[in-house]
Amino acid sequence: MAKAIIIGAGGVASVAAYKCVENKEVFSELTIASRTLSKCEELVEKLSGRGVKLNARQVDADNVGELVALFEEEKPDIVMNLALPYQNLSIMDACLEYGVDYLDTANYEPPDTAKFEYKWQWAYRERFEEAGLTAILGSGFDPGVTQVFTGYALKHHFDTIKYIDILDCNGGDHGYPFATNFNPEINIREVSAKGRYWEKGEWIETEPMEIKRTYNFKEVGEKDMYLLYHEEEESLVENVPGLERIRFFMTFGESYLTHLKCLENVGMTSIEPIEFEGREIIPLQFLKAVLPDPASLGPRTVGKTNIGCIFQGEKDGKTKTYYLYNICDHQEAYKETGAQAVSYTTGVPAMIGAAMVLQGHWKKPGVHNLEELDPDPFMDALNQFGLPWQEDFDPVLVP
Ligand code: NDP
Repeated sequence: MAKAIIIGAGGVASVAAYKCVENKEVFSELTIASRTLSKCEELVEKLSGRGVKLNARQVDADNVGELVALFEEEKPDIVMNLALPYQNLSIMDACLEYGVDYLDTANYEPPDTAKFEYKWQWAYRERFEEAGLTAILGSGFDPGVTQVFTGYALKHHFDTIKYIDILDCNGGDHGYPFATNFNPEINIREVSAKGRYWEKGEWIETEPMEIKRTYNFKEVGEKDMYLLYHEEEESLVENVPGLERIRFFMTFGESYLTHLKCLENVGMTSIEPIEFEGREIIPLQFLKAVLPDPASLGPRTVGKTNIGCIFQGEKDGKTKTYYLYNICDHQEAYKETGAQAVSYTTGVPAMIGAAMVLQGHWKKPGVHNLEELDPDPFMDALNQFGLPWQEDFDPVLVP
């Protein structure tokens, strides 16, 4: 029986909290701490009476001292960082200072440059090892489950994996001309950045949305998808021996791309501060304020997500292909947790990753990406907690 603190009270945090309460054999106590106390209190009220002791607290996760004081009072066994990537380093510092295991769902980003790199968090490896503490990086769906899928494919299906294509399809429709499914600032920084993939030992950069493919996704249908750089590619390149190519594709509708282009052209997606009526504002943060709150999309989003990995490689001297994926229905996720599938597919693996550490399966001092850890108990938990996976041994390959 263990106590977790969730930091953040947005879409992902609310699903993770819901799922921790469902998994009460592991989580006996849960504290939800975020910048806006009322959001934590609302969540606690919604989840109370289900057999897990709950508490709501206010914290500024940019402030290490405040975090350490919170941990000293709450005495957690694990800290689940489900705030924003900007807070990763301050929360890791506080975990080291207090002495508690750590987990997040996205890699650190400096607020002033949209860079997706693990180097800042990998620099904590020795400190976590020496302290005997575990830090789990990127326990969402992608990053997250995609790496567990890779670990599972390597353990059970391949001697060598040569090619990985990660396909992230959101076939959901929220009825708005333009909205983002998770934090708009983080989402737009990701999709307006240059694309990048890894082939034969080097990174190849593309213009944003330069490479387009069409794919027919099971239970969703045919969709246009675009090559993006995605953070799990960096660690998979390090950790999958013999890998010759890895690419990441995400689906986008025409309306989304047209709006994004227009917003970019007029300067609204910029993260460079500008002067407006005597005060400094960041255009992208202003844009976030006028866009629909992702949490409000839940009731109106219909359709499904289909996210997974196509692997090609060798087993016993023969070429083999293997597709592992999950299909998640927006309305079913909403009925269960009050959040749509993008928050659901991130919040469920966050809970599972924390449970893996608390149950000892992933208790391993140091800083780890998910493909480094035993995939089997995590794969079982995906089936148990609402993200069942499917396999295809003869998938259509992406050209
Ligand atoms: P939201 O914007 O809905 O929620 C973020 C929460 O963090 C809010 O409650 C916010 O508080 C809180 N927060 C922000 N800054 C601070 C701070 N300084 N101190 C304390 N709390 C703070 O985001 P999501 O729930 O959509 O996303 C959460 C995380 O999940 C992000 O890091 C995102 O990148 C990641 N993610 C990962 C995915 C994956 O597959 N791996 C997919 C989707 C998201 P307030 O309410 O006051 O604003």
